Amino acid sequence: MDGHCDILIIGGGMAGLSAATALEAVGQRIIVLDKGRGPGGRMAARRVEFGGAQVGFDHGAQYFTARDPAFREAVLAWEAAGVAAPWPAAGDDAWVGTPGMNACVKAMAEPLDVRWGVRAERLERTGAVWRIGAGDQSFTAATVLVAVPAEQAAVLLAGVAPDLADLAGSVASAPCWAVMAGFDAPLPIAPDTYPSDTGPISWAARNSAKPGRRGVETWVIHASPARSRELIDLPKEEVAQTLLADFFAATGAAPESPQHLDAHRWLYALPQALGGEGARFDAALRIGIAGDYLHSPRVEGAWLSGRALAQAVLQERVASTS
Ligand SMILES: Cc1cc2nc3c(=O)[nH]c(=O)nc-3n(C[C@H](O)[C@H](O)[C@H](O)COP(=O)(O)OP(=O)(O)OC[C@H]3O[C@@H](n4cnc5c(N)ncnc54)[C@H](O)[C@@H]3O)c2cc1C
Repeated sequence: MDGHCDILIIGGGMAGLSAATALEAVGQRIIVLDKGRGPGGRMAARRVEFGGAQVGFDHGAQYFTARDPAFREAVLAWEAAGVAAPWPAAGDDAWVGTPGMNACVKAMAEPLDVRWGVRAERLERTGAVWRIGAGDQSFTAATVLVAVPAEQAAVLLAGVAPDLADLAGSVASAPCWAVMAGFDAPLPIAPDTYPSDTGPISWAARNSAKPGRRGVETWVIHASPARSRELIDLPKEEVAQTLLADFFAATGAAPESPQHLDAHRWLYALPQALGGEGARFDAALRIGIAGDYLHSPRVEGAWLSGRALAQAVLQERVASTS
């Protein structure tokens, strides 16, 4: 047995860690499993070396808002801890993680028992105990919370929690190809952000201009859902070149050869959110789901969903002991 706890959480992105933080604060023993090598989920940041320096790219979420008072309080605490900062170039209420987008998730994970690089593959319930299989590792818990993208949750839950599996399975997420490009000199593009509702590029940003970043000129370019679908199965090298050309055409800047060029495919980038109560907990089976798709397809929505699931678990605990 590789771990026993009160509540096992599958998925250590913003939603899973928001739930974990709230539940550990009231004394629950929590283990979080995440298949990623490090913190971030869709708030990922990648470090690469070129031009003689380490350079970071935020290739997932670009910035986040903090409109809900409770989330705002959490963001202000991250700001005080030096892991978040406002980014006025993206809007009056835009925030980013510092020095990379994953910094807030990393800070949330630090006090928790998070097992990185562990992919949950099988769920089984025997009596009142959940057994979670992950490769050759095995965990047991009284309660399981699944905080992974909807399509992946549907696969994990099929057969053990059909209602939750159906709900997650009803969500369709749009893909997004993200290009990371580094240049040895600044591009002649004045604004640091290029949002667009039309054409093949939905967003581009001068990553090196975000607060807390240093070094050479870097850009992150996101393809629109339609363009991402067109290119979905092409090799990433070809996609990177195609979208870089789209980017120069869209901005009108003269094409430049990048010193560094890479692309990442997010298959489940942005869900059509279901809304509603923000999370679901099946008290009889002691299994629940959280994620941006249950609230709103944003960082803030993921945090609020995780917190809603923690509240549902705690309310049930109070109800069953009173
Ligand atoms: C390209 C892109 C651009 C975006 N832009 C913005 C933006 O500008 N502003 C904004 O607010 N939001 C943006 N978003 C959305 C935002 O990133 C998400 O809403 C939010 O991060 C979702 O958090 P989550 O915890 O629900 O899911 P995730 O971040 O996806 O976390 C799920 C975690 O589960 C793990 N996992 C999955 N399956 C398993 C398994 N079987 N076992 C163990 N672990 C597993 C994954 O490794 C991951 O860490 C963007 C997303 C993308 C991809």
